[in-house]
Amino acid sequence: LHARSALAAESVFSVMSRLAVQYGAVNLGQGFPAGSPPEFLLEALKTQAGAADQYTAPAGLPALREALAADLTTAAAVVRPEQVTVTCGATEAMHALADALYGTGTDGAGDEVLMFEPVFDIYRPQALLSGATPVLVGMTLTPEGWQPDLDGLERLVTPRTRALLVNNPHNPTGHVFTRAELERIVQLARQHDLWIIADEVYDELYFGEAPVPLRELAPERTFTVGSAGKRLEATGWRIGWIVSPAQVASQVTASQVIATQVTGLHQWATFCAPTPLQSAVAAALPIARQTGFYEDLRASYGARMRLLASGLRSLGLTVQQPGGSYFLTALAPGLDPWHLVEHGGLAVIPGSAFYAEGSAPDGLIRLAFCKPASEILRALE
Ligand code: GLN
Repeated sequence: LHARSALAAESVFSVMSRLAVQYGAVNLGQGFPAGSPPEFLLEALKTQAGAADQYTAPAGLPALREALAADLTTAAAVVRPEQVTVTCGATEAMHALADALYGTGTDGAGDEVLMFEPVFDIYRPQALLSGATPVLVGMTLTPEGWQPDLDGLERLVTPRTRALLVNNPHNPTGHVFTRAELERIVQLARQHDLWIIADEVYDELYFGEAPVPLRELAPERTFTVGSAGKRLEATGWRIGWIVSPAQVASQVTASQVIATQVTGLHQWATFCAPTPLQSAVAAALPIARQTGFYEDLRASYGARMRLLASGLRSLGLTVQQPGGSYFLTALAPGLDPWHLVEHGGLAVIPGSAFYAEGSAPDGLIRLAFCKPASEILRALE
């Protein structure tokens, strides 16, 4: 119980958003878009509410599972509706996977889960709550940007390692893993028979090379996590999903059992995600694809990213240009984000929130650019 109460501390994102409101600061902290979701999503909700207001199946509304399977299928990897579990946001998806894939071993010691540091804040508590041990693999800040330490990754695999968590595009760094990096990760996972958890909530948000979905490289062992909130600018809707591994001859049994288990465990948490919202997302996904919504999103976020990056550089900060996500990191030695939000009118996330105690690079901060250009300009001021 004592260990659990330590994990119940308020998340840095929630604290910073609260302080931003309290001090009237521009909020480039928590990553959520400032405006409304697209009109086609809101229209879809208007027509669906009143028609789909009761529970649906724990695995998700059939229409949404079908829309997701169609949307996520690529030339390199088919996704079938039966592989999809709809959850209450990607956060619940990650939690269901932590429940299903690892925990305390029969000898009472924790399974190990590899994850890259800087690490998004939910991963460690979720692993610990499931009884597992998070093992942090470094990402190095080089003059060319962030680089995952793949040699380190290899060294950290032990007989207790069960899963490897890859967040691509990566929050907080914005790093987009290259195909070569992903291939090396897959090779390691195959060699040691590890599950791959691919948190791909920013899959449509990239500014150069498109990220390669890990399920294309390792269909037999990859669980993909996605988010309607991130894709359709509606983070409060809490509609996320898991794509369980495809059936691949040698793995049929293990993957199928685990896929069933993921839905089974999600049903004890929320039974099902809100039906009218699932229905609206099902209607909106093909519209987003057909109307070029994601291309527009990339163009508009890309412009705001460059505005923020060049503005910070002209203030003398060292900025790492992100390949994807809606975050960038910068080095501002001597700047205290807690002081800044109270006295400087600006909320950013301290880099230390993404590191084990005391190991964050000096002065590292994360800024979100999914905000209007006017707010970015005010933040720079
Ligand atoms: N993904 C968002 C961020 O990184 C917020 C997530 C959250 O508040 N749980 O800022």
